[in-house]
Order: sequence, then structure tokens, then C-alpha cells
Amino acid sequence: MMDPKKHPSFDGHEDVVFVGGEAEGYAGIVAIHSTAIGPAAGGCRIWDYDSTEDALTDALRLSRGMSYKNAMADLPLGGGKAVIYKINIDRVEAFQKFGDAVEKLGGRYITAEDVGASVADMRAIAGRTSYVAGIPKEHGQAGGDPSPMTALGVFVSIKALLGGSVQGRTIAVQGAGAVGYKLCKLLNEEGAKLIVADVNEKNLERAKALGATTASVDRIHAAGADLFSPCALGAGLNARTIRELGAPIICGGANNQLATDDDGARLVARGITYAPDYVVNAGGIINVSAEYLGEPADVVEDRVRAIAPRLLRVLETAKSESLTPHQAADRIVRERIAAAKKN
Ligand code: NAD
Repeated sequence: MMDPKKHPSFDGHEDVVFVGGEAEGYAGIVAIHSTAIGPAAGGCRIWDYDSTEDALTDALRLSRGMSYKNAMADLPLGGGKAVIYKINIDRVEAFQKFGDAVEKLGGRYITAEDVGASVADMRAIAGRTSYVAGIPKEHGQAGGDPSPMTALGVFVSIKALLGGSVQGRTIAVQGAGAVGYKLCKLLNEEGAKLIVADVNEKNLERAKALGATTASVDRIHAAGADLFSPCALGAGLNARTIRELGAPIICGGANNQLATDDDGARLVARGITYAPDYVVNAGGIINVSAEYLGEPADVVEDRVRAIAPRLLRVLETAKSESLTPHQAADRIVRERIAAAKKN
């Protein structure tokens, strides 16, 4: 196994821990990027990677991304991420063992759901450690499924980008899953026209029930609209799709929307406004953070609504400093993390 420190995606991570192993019946990696601002928080992804190397790449990149997202959202949290790439035993037992591994880290890493993980998995972890979130709580307490808050953060950002109202505006939404569908509902309630694409027929049908028209999965980015909202998987904005984009503004919930850094510059060159993904999709982690800190549910919505003015400030910074929006966001958080390291 490669030394994580020699990996191209290594970014001064504080710790990279291989958990489980052949004898344990499950295997994974916990990457702690930074605890400068607070405990490293970020979900646990369950994925069948082609190689352990690919799992490590994902853990390193995603954990750095969480440092940035958490710092940008003004949360008292650092960034970390876990990936589990092998489970050969009963799933509950595997997550209990993973819970033991999280406990051993002594609170430097806090886990929650990510792609492939469920509330049941988090409950199994919670049997062994308190360093876990993403579990529905009693009425009035923050907790549970983060996707409604992610959708709300994207929605308020879209409104701000469109001058305060979505009434009569056309929004092209790529992916009507947990986040995308809830976003469609909010947009529909305020009178937006929807164009939706999804590979999943059932999810497409429920969007159609809101009055959405549909586009094919490989052309949704090119649909003529006031705004394009990527809410499926990452890396959808690349040299080809950027050339074909049919909307002047992009704002969506998907993580890692730009395939490469050059794509940020390509968007600027085409005069397209790009809302950096991790600025606008922080609603979920804001909810998770409040849950972990035992805060009441009603503090969450105001914090999520604060994403919209924060986005406008990032776009202003980008303009005034001739940076791409993504570069401007990265610069702001790097400064924040560096300042916290000094204290
Ligand atoms: P999800 O799996 O519920 O939804 C994804 C949807 O995209 C599904 O309906 C799927 O069928 C569809 N899809 C997949 N490939 C597609 C394609 N090529 N074209 C069109 N549709 C396609 O996931 P989600 O929780 O809604 O997350 C969506 C995105 O938002 C992901 O990138 C995720 O990492 C990100 N995100 C989610 C949250 C959250 O709170 N759930 C928080 C932050 C970021």
C-alpha cells in the first residue's frame, strides 16, 4: 500500500488511518485533513472501489473538501472523511467495528452518512461511539436526513442569484434525487418552471408530477434555461458540457461539479456565473453539525439561509480580485484555516 504522504492528493493531512483489515472482515480508511477549527467532521462513504489506491484518493480528496466546506459555512468543525471499501461480514457487525475504530480516534473524527450509508449503519456505529451524527432525534432537536436542508441552501442561493425571485423563471435540474427533488418542490411552490433529467424513471416521474418538463440525461446541461442546477453526481462540468451549456448561471447541490480547475476558468471565459458547489450545498453539514452539538432544530434554518448572502460575497470577491468563484472560495477558507492553526 502506498504511503499516503506520497499520494498526489495528499494535502498536509493530519492523519490517515487504515481501519479494519482481512481478519476484521471489513476494511476502510479514515482521513483527517484538519482539526484546526474543530473536530474533523465528514461522512462515511461505502463504495466498491477498483483498488485500495482509488479508495485512498477519494478519502484524501473528500476530507480536504470537508475542511473547506465546514470552514466556509462558519462551523466549529474541521474536515475528515471515511471510506469503507470492503465488507465481508454482517453489515451491522462491520459498522459496530468501524464504530470502535472511530471511538479509538478519541473525537478527532466525527462520522455521518455519505453515499451508500444509511441511518441503520449510523445506529450501529452509535452503539460503540458518540462521535457520530445523522441519526433522527427527538422532536425539536436537530438531526436526521440532511437533504432537506441541503435543498433549502441551494434554493435560497438560486433565488439570490436570480435577483430575489424564481417566479416564472426556468430552472434546469440535473438529478431529482434526495436533494434535487426537494429543490424542485421548493422551486415549484414559488412559481418556477422546471426542466428535469434523471436516469431513474421513478425519480423523474415524481418531478413530472410537479409539472416539470423533461430533458434527456445527456442534454439537460444544454437546455435553454435561466439557471442550470446540477444535483446528480460530480464532475458534470467539463470542456464539452461547458461549451454546450444553455443557462447563464449554475447553482446546484452536487459535490465536485467542476471536472478540473481549468473548467472554472472556462466558465468565466463563457461569461457564465458559477456558484461554487461547497458554498451552496453546505445545508446538510450545517444540520449535521447542529445535531452533533445537540442544538435545537430551529437554529438550523437561519444558518442555512445565510448561505445566500455568503455566496454573493464570494462572487463579489471573485470579481474584485479577478479570480474564478471557486478560487475565491478556496482562498477565503485557506486563510480561515491558516488563521485557526496559528491560534
Ligand atoms: P441521490 O442519490 O438521492 O440523488 C441523485 C439523483 O441523481 C438520483 O435520482 C439519480 O438517479 C440521479 N442521477 C444519477 N446520475 C445521473 C445523470 N447522469 N443524469 C441525471 N441524473 C442522474 O443523492 P443526493 O443525496 O440527492 O445527492 C445529490 C448530490 O448532492 C451528490 O453529488 C451529493 O454528493 C450532493 N450532496 C448531497 C447532500 C445531501 O444532503 N444529501 C449534501 C451535500 C451534497
